[in-house]
Amino acid sequence: MRRKLAAGNWKMNGTGSSLSELDTLANLHPNAAVDILICPPATLLGQAAMQVSTSSVSIGAQDCHADTSGAHTGDISAEMVTDVGATAVILGHSERREDHNEDSELVRIKARAAHAAGLTAIICLGESEAQRDAANTLDIIAGQLAISTPDTATADNTVIAYEPIWAIGTGKVPTLVQIAEVHDFIREKLTSRFGPEIGNAIRLLYGGSVKPTNADDIFTVSNVDGALVGGASLKATDFSPIITALEGATI
Ligand code: PEP
Repeated sequence: MRRKLAAGNWKMNGTGSSLSELDTLANLHPNAAVDILICPPATLLGQAAMQVSTSSVSIGAQDCHADTSGAHTGDISAEMVTDVGATAVILGHSERREDHNEDSELVRIKARAAHAAGLTAIICLGESEAQRDAANTLDIIAGQLAISTPDTATADNTVIAYEPIWAIGTGKVPTLVQIAEVHDFIREKLTSRFGPEIGNAIRLLYGGSVKPTNADDIFTVSNVDGALVGGASLKATDFSPIITALEGATI
């Protein structure tokens, strides 16, 4: 049985005053039946990790560099993320692939660095609307998954997030059948590459306009072990019902 994960990606949102949302969230879910992760911007990582250290909420970064240290102005290494008490890092989000020209080769090297630093790498995959319209979704996902996932992946250090680009921040959501098709496909690829023990234990998240209003339905889909949530994770009162829906899905 895979433990479910509700992960929030704050993207480039939040200043010090936003950290009170973490306390609200922790107070709403003191004994959560699922893992709860918030990925704030890098500026808040250390303070956030300190603040939730005795709660049910964990903290992750939104990116890390592939190198451990050196001349990379503006970047942070996986070791730095671990050092401040965060436990995970989102890698290969479509916004990083697009804004920073990150490709799957780079995502794999970053994921390897994350693993070496003891972090869980949340590796994001997803097709564009044009790729879906051209019936290329599964080919795109297969390619991104194969290249972005390093051989060091285990069930403990890797989570795969399927995030159709056209569903991120748009309010558009794939049908449950479309989500199931991709998640079952990813599961099959993981078990054939890593064997049934690891392949069946790696958690798969769905991401893209998950809201309190659609979470219950999405969490009924096979091989959906949780969600990666953007906009609806910024406020504890929005994220909380999504966590509750996920907890319900485990029963
Ligand atoms: C995301 O940022 O990964 C995401 C899925 O955003 P949203 O939930 O806002 O669509």
